[in-house]
Amino acid sequence: MTRTIAVIPGDGIGPEVVASARTVLDALDRRHGLDLGYETFDWSCRRYAETGAMMPADGLETLSRFDAILLGAVGWPGVPDHVSLWGLLIPIRRAFRQYVNLRPIRVFDGVGSPLRTAEPGAVDLVVVRENVEGEYSEIGGRLNRGFPDEFAVQESVFTRAGVTRIADYAFELARGRRGYVTSATKSNGIVHTLPFWDEVVAERAERFPDVRWDQEHIDALAAKIVLQPDRFDVVVASNLFGDILSDLAAAVAGSIGVAPSANIDPTGTHPSMFEPVHGSAPDIAGRGLANPVGTLWSCVLMLERLGHEKAAAELMTAITTTLRDPRTRTPDVGGSASTADVTAALVELVAGG
Ligand code: ATP
Ligand code: MG
Repeated sequence: MTRTIAVIPGDGIGPEVVASARTVLDALDRRHGLDLGYETFDWSCRRYAETGAMMPADGLETLSRFDAILLGAVGWPGVPDHVSLWGLLIPIRRAFRQYVNLRPIRVFDGVGSPLRTAEPGAVDLVVVRENVEGEYSEIGGRLNRGFPDEFAVQESVFTRAGVTRIADYAFELARGRRGYVTSATKSNGIVHTLPFWDEVVAERAERFPDVRWDQEHIDALAAKIVLQPDRFDVVVASNLFGDILSDLAAAVAGSIGVAPSANIDPTGTHPSMFEPVHGSAPDIAGRGLANPVGTLWSCVLMLERLGHEKAAAELMTAITTTLRDPRTRTPDVGGSASTADVTAALVELVAGG
């Protein structure tokens, strides 16, 4: 059965890294008979500048017919961030109930981490970020604008169903890894929502007696991820905490150019979306220097989700191999190879491996 992927290359280096990914996926497909089909959409800040909208009015309906979404990056100088966020990314995450944001982090052999504590191979953690509720709600407002007593209120929303399903996902994921979950909290300072989070996580933990778990306050946890990143396996966090921790952990790993992410609807009712963590990188766009690894590792996550575990594992091995060799590393990870060089090396590895 052909599985179809909606491809949204987006802006800046988005189209460059997505083209690289397509080339490598095609090579994998030839070898493994993955039977993947693609349709490409020009939804982007460029489209916004021309038409006033990031995507057409029936965009979500169109995407709902696909098995997965592969996104490069959206955003461009002059177009406010909220346009690409609220005009494309957030509607997709919400409409398709992609309540898990998965951010694996590794320190690769060959990619220097800024930390001496992070030995290559030893750091291998996943941040599981709650992706649809929590602190990023639209509930709140600003009153008395311009007056001395002006104030702003922003509400967080934590639901039993929402915390339950993200906790379950994290515990389940840990089972297939090193069996250890750390829950990010701040229930000593935030006295309603996070004690509730802690309570629900503890309740769910009882259903996974084979998984070790603990909780850490976000401030201490951030420090520990810097000091002892190899201590962690699965870190589960609310929307805001997960956002911060995954960027922090990706920085610990050495380059934003290698960091992948998946926005997942674990029920499989809707398509999940796979995208590199990095943005459109206007400073290097069009120069053939973009590191395609963040996108390709996102494709590994996509292939796993589509049931192509073997192809996914081969692609991951190929990625690790190219990063080890300075001749097949882009400048952001200390090499001088171009996007095309890395792509060619990956194609050769997956075709011959
Ligand atoms: P956005 O607002 O879309 O997140 P940004 O400018 O804040 O964009 P990025 O676009 O991720 O963030 O760029 C941050 C820095 O990292 C830039 O200097 C960029 O060149 C670099 N960078 C990002 N992605 C890559 C990549 N794939 N390869 C090489 N360098 C990258
Ligand atoms: Mg940014």
